[in-house]
This record gives sequence, C-alpha cells and structure tokens, in this order.
Amino acid sequence: MKVSRFVFAFVLLLAPALVFAHGGHKHVIGAVVSMNATSIVVKTTSGNVSVPLSSATKYYHGSTTKHAATASDVANDMRVVVHLGGDGKAVEVHIP
Ligand SMILES: [Zn+2]
Repeated sequence: MKVSRFVFAFVLLLAPALVFAHGGHKHVIGAVVSMNATSIVVKTTSGNVSVPLSSATKYYHGSTTKHAATASDVANDMRVVVHLGGDGKAVEVHIP
C-alpha cells in the first residue's frame, strides 16, 4: 500500500512534460528555446522537446482559440502550450 502510493506520487512528479488532457491528445508545456519554420523546441520539466510544425499549425494568444496569433509572435523564453496531433506534429501553439 505504502509503496504503491509512493510510486504513484513519484510518477506524478516526474511525468508530464507530455500531458494528456482534453481530446486525449498530448501537450508539450514549457518555455520556448528556439523556433524555426519546421520545428519548435520547448524546454519542459524533463528536458528540451522538439516538436515538428506543419503548415496547418495554428497559433493563439491565451489558452482558448479566440485570439489568433502568428508564428512570428512566438519569442524565445515565452511560455507555450503546444497541442499535438496524432502524427506528433503541433496542431496548436498557445502563447501568452
Ligand atoms: Zn490540447
């Protein structure tokens, strides 16, 4: 009992640079390290993650899709939440 609880807490602690949430897809959450036309590198709690971008990737200010942004609005050190599609590419990039 005690052990499994410990393991559970440990997993929770380590887990989630990649978090499952709405829609069941994955997210990459952290700060922008760099970005170019084909990928964005995000510094997460478990290290840097490079996420491929596509021509269909959409950019938004805030956590909703009400305020459109563009790729050029993304700057280094910004906190981002990248929503991944089934192919592992970025579907949405949310910035502050
Ligand atoms: Zn999402």
